[in-house]
Amino acid sequence: MTIDRPRIDLYSDTQTRPSRAMREAMANAEVGDEQRNEDPTVRELCSMVAELLGKDAALFLPSGTMCNEVAYRTHTQPGDEIILHETSHSLHFEGGAPAALSGVMLRTLPGERGMFTADQVHGAIRGDGPHFQRSRLVSVENTTNLGGGAVWSVDELDDISEVAREHGLATHMDGARLMNAVVASGVPASAFARGYDSAWIDMSKGLGAPVGGVLAGSHEFIAEALRHKHQFGGAMRQAGIIAAAGVYALKHNVERLADDHDNAKRFARLIARIDGIGIDPDAIETNIIYFDVADTGLTAPQVSERLLEHGVRIGAMDEHLMRAVTHLDVDTAGVEEAAEALRAVIGSA
Ligand SMILES: *Cc1c(COP(=O)(O)O)cnc(C)c1O
Repeated sequence: MTIDRPRIDLYSDTQTRPSRAMREAMANAEVGDEQRNEDPTVRELCSMVAELLGKDAALFLPSGTMCNEVAYRTHTQPGDEIILHETSHSLHFEGGAPAALSGVMLRTLPGERGMFTADQVHGAIRGDGPHFQRSRLVSVENTTNLGGGAVWSVDELDDISEVAREHGLATHMDGARLMNAVVASGVPASAFARGYDSAWIDMSKGLGAPVGGVLAGSHEFIAEALRHKHQFGGAMRQAGIIAAAGVYALKHNVERLADDHDNAKRFARLIARIDGIGIDPDAIETNIIYFDVADTGLTAPQVSERLLEHGVRIGAMDEHLMRAVTHLDVDTAGVEEAAEALRAVIGSA
């Protein structure tokens, strides 16, 4: 069966296909039994990510979702509370896993662009006593996904981790797109993650690998997380085949994220000129572009469907909001063509 693929797929940076060179690296990977820590390629990927994030050790997992959920399980006990932003991926897109797998409560904080402040965290930490669930973990997302690809300031991250530590809470960074934050800001990944007990990066977003996430932390944290990896069914065998794609991605696909950011800004500027589209092109920091179609006379699902007829895929988030994400399989000509298609769809409404 062949599945029609939109010519220009801005649905997500998960839509990348492994390149020929990446596939060659995968085919040639040295492998071993990953569950016995005998896969040399998995070990190489884990030590690369541990070093990148400035942590003792790292764990290769089949998905970013599992990175969040294994970390949550490792940091918490049932009945504990995790403080996180109200737009967090783990709250909205992980199938209720924090409740199902860790038995935790989630305390959500509001804030612009997926971010909150150390003062808000301070205000959300509960007092001691048998009436209260135990505040146990603060979880941040960098870059923010529903927050529009925003990059945190290291100062704010440090302030948050300091408040958490003062009150005995652990800290976790969902760094699905942390390398986008690094390339956009020039701040090293280890600086973003320095106050955080656990942090991870996704190999299958803008880095262009087909599978996997790598979760990093202290030796003690990773030893405990390993048990939960097994419990959740995330332990693999000759996983070097897929880890090789991650190693390749870290060597070849990081700096080029700047192209995705340039293309995102270009796309945002082009569509800002279309009547009825609501967007602030100056707010684009990385590769995620949210825009509003409420004033076009079409709903977001209608725009999305009509764009497909032009070979362009952009997702509808709700009635009026759409999200485009740039990545290594869409070049500058591609985003220009996508903007033209959007103009045609809206112009003919
Ligand atoms: C994609 C994403 C995840 C989940 O990663 P998967 O590899 O798709 O499981 C978690 N957090 C954020 C912010 C994401 O964008």
